[in-house]
Amino acid sequence: MNMNPETIAAQAAHQPDLATGAVAPPIYLSTTFERDPDGEYSRGFVYSRSDNPNRHSLEHLLALLEGGDSGEAVAAAFASGSAATATVFQALAPGDHVIAPDDCYHGTARLLREVFAPWGLQTTFVDMTGPENVRDAVQPNTRMIWVETPSNPLLKITDIAEMASIAQAAGALCACDNTWASPMLQRPLSLGADLVVHSTTKYLGGHEDVTGGAVVSASDSEFFRRIRLIQNIYGAVPSPFDCWLTLRGIRTLHVRMLAHCANAGKVARFLHDHPYVAPVHYPGLPDHPGHAVAAGQMADFGGMLSFQVAGGRDAAMDVAGKVRLFVRATSLGGTQSLIEHRASIEGPDSTTPDDLLRVSVGLENADDLIADLAQALG
Ligand code: PLP
Repeated sequence: MNMNPETIAAQAAHQPDLATGAVAPPIYLSTTFERDPDGEYSRGFVYSRSDNPNRHSLEHLLALLEGGDSGEAVAAAFASGSAATATVFQALAPGDHVIAPDDCYHGTARLLREVFAPWGLQTTFVDMTGPENVRDAVQPNTRMIWVETPSNPLLKITDIAEMASIAQAAGALCACDNTWASPMLQRPLSLGADLVVHSTTKYLGGHEDVTGGAVVSASDSEFFRRIRLIQNIYGAVPSPFDCWLTLRGIRTLHVRMLAHCANAGKVARFLHDHPYVAPVHYPGLPDHPGHAVAAGQMADFGGMLSFQVAGGRDAAMDVAGKVRLFVRATSLGGTQSLIEHRASIEGPDSTTPDDLLRVSVGLENADDLIADLAQALG
């Protein structure tokens, strides 16, 4: 039966437990699984680093959410989003070339510069809002175009279908970090991407209480089998309880995303009209440079935004210091609204504007959030 993503998520692709009838899944803490008398493992599990029933369920659900129920997509879960990202780069080979966005999660840029450049991976960082910049960066050894849209922290929008077609013409793979949108708002595989990466720490987990990551592949390709090999041999895997918590979070993903988007739209419009704020980076605003592309490839514009405060760094710090409802903390995608001065979190090599505050808009009443920002902005 064809199911819509809301149905897949709400049921977490789970059937009541065969042995007990339990409607919520049990947590399988066992690290090892019994072998049959004939030496087979007919129940499918051998050792928990390699596979575990809770991880198996999470991977199955993520593949369905990102890939639809054709059943072709496959997923591998990791102990963090960064472990998932690193595994994708590790599955390439020294000497390969990656094109990555000039605005992306700071940790991804650091992985490429500080870990994978010494290993032999070459990276060109470009502004992907202009597809010609990406076409110009293609080299004979380009093996991957890494996309992150909306981007962290400037909410730049990249045309995924365009990137996938440039990658295909170059004989490269297109991988998309879909963390900020979640599969409820954007499905890169349906737009031609080969791989999707998630920090499940964010919207998928959704409650600021579990760290995790995932790679979803459009098919069980040779490249994905290498990702599976690294997952198994390196063992940067989530615990059964981490998987269980993430699965539980995903059950409410659909309704949470509706509320995140509605709240973020209201907060963005308030900030947009505020005399001490310019610009507001939110793709749902009609004057955002990526608005049309976002409207074409996203179901809604997401719960993340950033804005720049008149008066520079000190003024931005002052606003962050005065909020009462927003929590001053890094990360995103949970029920509580968070605010952070991004440049100081990223460190001395940050290219993020010094007057920028990044906001993860939570599930509170939007009027309360707006009142809090209004008093903090003065
Ligand atoms: N990708 C994006 C877009 C992120 O925002 C983050 C973290 O903020 C990551 C990846 C890394 O995820 P994790 O913290 O789970 O390693």
